[in-house]
Amino acid sequence: MQWETVIGLEVHVQLATRSKIFSGASTAFGAEPNTQACAVDLGLPGVLPVLNEQAVAMAVQFGLAVHAEIPEVSVFDRKNYFYPDLPKGYQTSQMYHPIVGAGEVEITLDDDTTKRIRIHHAHLEEDAGKSLHEDFHGMTGIDLNRAGTPLLEIVSEPDMRNAKEAAAYLKAIHSIVTYLGISDGNMAEGSMRCDVNVSVRPKGQEAFGTRAEIKNVNSFRFVERAIAFEVERQIELIEDGGSVVQETRLYDPERDETRSMRTKEEANDYRYFPCPDLLPVVLDEAYLEHLRSQLPELPADKRARFQDALGLSAYDASVLSASREMAEFFEEVHRVCGDAKQAANWVQGELSGALNRENLSTQNSPVSAQQLGEVVRRVLDGTINGKAAKQVFQALWNGQGESADAIIDAKGLKQVTDTGAIEAMIDQVIAESPAQVAQYRDSEPDKRGKMIGYFVGQVMKASRGTANPQQVNDLLKTKLDALL
Ligand code: ADP
Ligand code: MG
Repeated sequence: MQWETVIGLEVHVQLATRSKIFSGASTAFGAEPNTQACAVDLGLPGVLPVLNEQAVAMAVQFGLAVHAEIPEVSVFDRKNYFYPDLPKGYQTSQMYHPIVGAGEVEITLDDDTTKRIRIHHAHLEEDAGKSLHEDFHGMTGIDLNRAGTPLLEIVSEPDMRNAKEAAAYLKAIHSIVTYLGISDGNMAEGSMRCDVNVSVRPKGQEAFGTRAEIKNVNSFRFVERAIAFEVERQIELIEDGGSVVQETRLYDPERDETRSMRTKEEANDYRYFPCPDLLPVVLDEAYLEHLRSQLPELPADKRARFQDALGLSAYDASVLSASREMAEFFEEVHRVCGDAKQAANWVQGELSGALNRENLSTQNSPVSAQQLGEVVRRVLDGTINGKAAKQVFQALWNGQGESADAIIDAKGLKQVTDTGAIEAMIDQVIAESPAQVAQYRDSEPDKRGKMIGYFVGQVMKASRGTANPQQVNDLLKTKLDALL
């Protein structure tokens, strides 16, 4: 039997507001426990929530970015349940009238093909506090700093068909929210986490199978691994004559498996009802137009422009547009050097290599885009060769100079293109290498091309890497052939 996987994601994005969604308490990460929860976040008697306008603007910007309909009216509901990290006894969320309606995002797959994933809706809600199980013997600690932090929950249609598509979708969402600047997207700190809904069905069958929901997966890799495990579990279960039950499961990265948390029968009845403390949110066309006019160029548009207007390959365009910082860095390098392909090569090659080695991002790169652009410009105008350019880059990286030109001067890396000077070096190398010259003379004509490498190496060494490699090659060939 051939099986097909069906996946739908509910992504929780922590919005980058400075204060909470219904109070003025700070949302900054890493504060001492329980120092950033005020009376509103704690649900003390006599307080009233006030909606943070910035959270509304951010949610709407997301909606506009995924071409969603934005309903004129949205409403906050209370989702009632009892849990120690929820001091109010209910979570303020949006059940029936979310702020963002149906939309879609385009994902790019490994083979550079694209696919559209529909978004069912996105709604605003508040986060709960955190239960801390470590450091407390026989007790659970409660930190309410996170209570009331604004979240945007983005619910996809079940449009993904394998783990790669799900990871690509999550990356697309990550890229959109960070381009918009509405979230820092830091998955390690929990700024983005997702619930993964997975089911399988016989290939060709139209009806969906019963799904399991894997809660709170917090990395791209874990999303793929959790799906892989879950798909295998469900197929095995069905093939052994059993059936999948609708339930909530937990992914354990250490054991690389999912485990049951609660089944549908144990599911809560949340008794949703409209929050009487909050007015419906009404958005008019002028407000939407204002937000629309402030949207930055989005990842999909950037990728298309890098390909169509700058002539980059689909692969380069996709890598360079994946994060806004990377894209802007590349664009600055391109602006300074004037050659998109070379700029792309340097950013993805030398720069990314160095950044990865030291676990840095373009934001804290020791070599600025302006500096890298100047290095590339000096290669393009023939001032230095490619080898010297790498030395200049390294020197800039190590802080040994302010600009490419300063380092080229200080280190004497200017490319030697003076034919006379190169010829003099060649003559000397030939004079000092009688054995190799004899070998060159005695070898078959089609082997000589390879042998010339030895002489090129010697001449480049004599020039301390500054000779123009093409000229060295051409002149050497002429001179050696003259000795035949
Ligand atoms: P609920 O209201 O119980 O949370 P929804 O219908 O809103 O359920 O779906 C929640 C998520 O589960 C959505 O992202 C949706 O795409 C996904 N989903 C729904 N049915 C399936 C299924 N059979 N297989 C995989 N994912 C599914
Ligand atoms: Mg749900």
